[in-house]
Amino acid sequence: MPELPEVELVKRELKTVENLTIEDVKVSDKVVEGHNAGKLTIVKEPVDIFIENTKNMDILSLGRRGKYLYFILQNDHQVKYLIGHLGMSGAFFHLNSLDEIVEHNFKVHWHVIFYLSDGSMLVYSDIRRFGELRTIGKLSEFLPVVRMAPEYDTEEAKEHFLNAVKSPNNAAKTIKSVLMDSTVVTGVGNIYAAESLYSAKILPTRKAGNISVKRLEGLYQEIVDVFELSLSHGGSTISDYRSSTGGSGEMQNRFQVYQCKICPAGHDITTKVIAGRNTFYCTKCQR
Ligand SMILES: [Zn+2]
Repeated sequence: MPELPEVELVKRELKTVENLTIEDVKVSDKVVEGHNAGKLTIVKEPVDIFIENTKNMDILSLGRRGKYLYFILQNDHQVKYLIGHLGMSGAFFHLNSLDEIVEHNFKVHWHVIFYLSDGSMLVYSDIRRFGELRTIGKLSEFLPVVRMAPEYDTEEAKEHFLNAVKSPNNAAKTIKSVLMDSTVVTGVGNIYAAESLYSAKILPTRKAGNISVKRLEGLYQEIVDVFELSLSHGGSTISDYRSSTGGSGEMQNRFQVYQCKICPAGHDITTKVIAGRNTFYCTKCQR
């Protein structure tokens, strides 16, 4: 699943759609079938409303909040946000034809195509269909964003993190599950939780309430550092994740524990399911 660095990189790559107009919108048969069956497959509002809210709109700019990517759309009368979450295996492509999508699975599993004013198209592909696209009037109308912790690189984020981890709500939970809660810190998923906890030498199984403020401050810095490291290496490319242009990052070559057998100090890695996800850690380096 793409985490914050991967979504940030998609946003940067998709800057090429800014200032273009969405002239037409097409959704896949799977989306239509899902909607007909009463499931909001990928498009999380009635398809006709989704199309009405995006067609003939200019793409003003792109933004990211946590793992959500958004496009600010505008016409003469109104501003709308097209907001998306890549789920497990979503990907955006900006290209001139579907044939340019190198990966076969992404080529056949396209679900929404926005036809743009310069003849190009913005394609949303999703093999497992856990991704989400919807239109909203403004970000403050969208609950997951409203509840979200401040962005990781803002001044108030660390203070928010320390307070949230220490809150009575979270004190009895494992630090691993608290880290993956977007109301505590933005954009940390399974990979960067494992990596930052290893760097901070904290066991993922430890109760959040039992960790000293000093160690939590260290952990917060490790989260920031691993995000920055990943951004500078093009993000992580594992299983289903592909960047918008189909390229791949190489952060996965720098993992210390995630999907590793041996830690950098040469110890065997332990794996255990925590918060429903496979968790990788070292019982010798982490305490
Ligand atoms: Zn170790």
